[in-house]
Amino acid sequence: MRIANLDGRAVLVTEGGAVDVATASDGRFGPDPQALFEDWAAFADWARTIPDASPDAAVAFDPSDLGAPVPRPRQVFAIGLNYAEHAAEAGYPPDSMPVTFTKFPSSIVGPDAVVELPEGNVDWEVELVVVIGRHAHKVDRETAWDHVAGLTIGQDLSERITQMQGSAPQFSLGKSFPGFGPTGPWLVTPDELADRDDLAIACSLSGEEVQSSRTSMMLYDVPELLVRLSAVCPLLPGDIIFSGTPSGIGNRRTPQRFIGPDDVLVSEIEGIGALTTRFAAPH
Ligand code: ZN
Repeated sequence: MRIANLDGRAVLVTEGGAVDVATASDGRFGPDPQALFEDWAAFADWARTIPDASPDAAVAFDPSDLGAPVPRPRQVFAIGLNYAEHAAEAGYPPDSMPVTFTKFPSSIVGPDAVVELPEGNVDWEVELVVVIGRHAHKVDRETAWDHVAGLTIGQDLSERITQMQGSAPQFSLGKSFPGFGPTGPWLVTPDELADRDDLAIACSLSGEEVQSSRTSMMLYDVPELLVRLSAVCPLLPGDIIFSGTPSGIGNRRTPQRFIGPDDVLVSEIEGIGALTTRFAAPH
């Protein structure tokens, strides 16, 4: 099942096109995409009956009209150094706790964003984004996936000068400029994926592949992230977790490379799709 935000309304993405959730459910669910997560289990049960039952309700849509599949998360968790090769390139030893920070929710945008570059060194980080569908507090590994509504693609855009300034790093600020959290193009439920724990993940900048790995290479996998985070913070329906990036960021390349206004950034995850991000010069 694929759920998207089309012009601010929740839709199911089917082979025939988009099915408007509020219309097809007679107002029981939607239209606000964020509201689906408050009653996710009931919504998912209902949604599974739709693609076969009412193909006529599907309409073609323009992908440029898609917004963030989770437009207003209450909490945005982000994990640093969660792939060994990336931790090594960044100069850190593997840690005994996931390195956790936030991207402030005002940075979240959709799959068709044009991000205005701030002054500084803006870098790419393709990441699997986990969407919470059920209140999760002190969960165990065995039931962790039951709390996940779905997965989507994210870019943890990062301005490295702000991120590294001062005596302690400013991860949360350096990664929260407007538009620094592109997500989408839609949320895919884990049952759609051949192996939800092992997905190819890649990123290309203006046609050059710069990152390529598999999510099975995470040091802390999705269940473990839910265990560790929910041991401290209750995870709320509609929260999202940026789960960390593989190696290949621009800051650690020789020579360094950062995003310019003419670059096009394409982020891909197997079984989910592709997220294309464009940029504009600072002004
Ligand atoms: Zn990141």
